[in-house]
Amino acid sequence: MAGILFIISAPSGSGKSTLVNEVRKQLSGIEFSVSWTTRQPRGSEQHGREYNFTTREEFERMLAAGQFLEHAEVFGNYYGTARSSLELARREGHDLVLDIDVQGAAQVRATMPEAVSIFVLPPNPKVLRTRLRNRSRAEGVENEAEVYRRLGEASKEIENYREYGYILVNDTLDRAVAQLEAIVLAERFYRNDEPIAYRSRRVLEVAAGCLQANSQERLKPVLQAFGILNPPGQRELPFVEDFDEEDSQEEKEDLDKGDSNDEQRGLQ
Ligand code: ADP
Ligand code: 5GP
Repeated sequence: MAGILFIISAPSGSGKSTLVNEVRKQLSGIEFSVSWTTRQPRGSEQHGREYNFTTREEFERMLAAGQFLEHAEVFGNYYGTARSSLELARREGHDLVLDIDVQGAAQVRATMPEAVSIFVLPPNPKVLRTRLRNRSRAEGVENEAEVYRRLGEASKEIENYREYGYILVNDTLDRAVAQLEAIVLAERFYRNDEPIAYRSRRVLEVAAGCLQANSQERLKPVLQAFGILNPPGQRELPFVEDFDEEDSQEEKEDLDKGDSNDEQRGLQ
């Protein structure tokens, strides 16, 4: 049975690594492509687990040798997917998830139009800022400049959402995990005729609801919050620079939401 290639993109901090890790706990047969990068490891990241960390010289040598399926420069560092990841997943008949940016996704779609592409959106810029801050705190680094740099890129990346087949809004974690799981199961069902053992009709409905074509109303408030639907020139993110009480409360709530396992799962 042929494996399916899933591309997942999102502004940094939206929660795509969290979603992919959760879905891999629920479903077997999904490999995660460990990318190569020239950025420094963050927090508890380990070579060979989150990324293969390398130098610019080595990355450029691999690039010249044609070892990358796609690559891009993101936030001043190189990132790339090794062709060998795809070859290995194909040999084993496994699905493969690429967590790559919008530039890399465009390169993969151009050569492999059969790939299933998924764009993950945070519900609004404030939540995104909170998640970026929480993550840097958890990693023991407080880098406000980096948080704002990543926030500044978010709207530009989100403008590419139309290139993706499915759109997820990662608000409540459990619901977003259930939606991603439904997309994987539905694609396996449609492409490989793989039976869905559990609540099959509901799974197909949840996946269909995430198709970009069916998401316009759901996306409107999110796109507005990021200034995507605003006329050019009025796209500044609505931030106050200060970290005030209201933000602090929101950050706490978002943290609680992420940790909670009490939420009703979208499939139940
Ligand atoms: P990405 O891979 O998109 O850069 P991460 O998966 O590292 O993002 O998530 C960024 C931060 O947001 C992490 O601290 C993660 O625990 C948190 N997070 C992810 N999803 C949610 C959610 N639905 N609610 C609250 N926090 C979340
Ligand atoms: P981070 O440094 O936060 O882990 O990732 C920054 C950005 O690089 C994210 O948008 C992530 O999806 C992207 N990225 C990670 N690996 C790759 C890759 O192999 N190729 C491309 N094009 N982007 C990647």
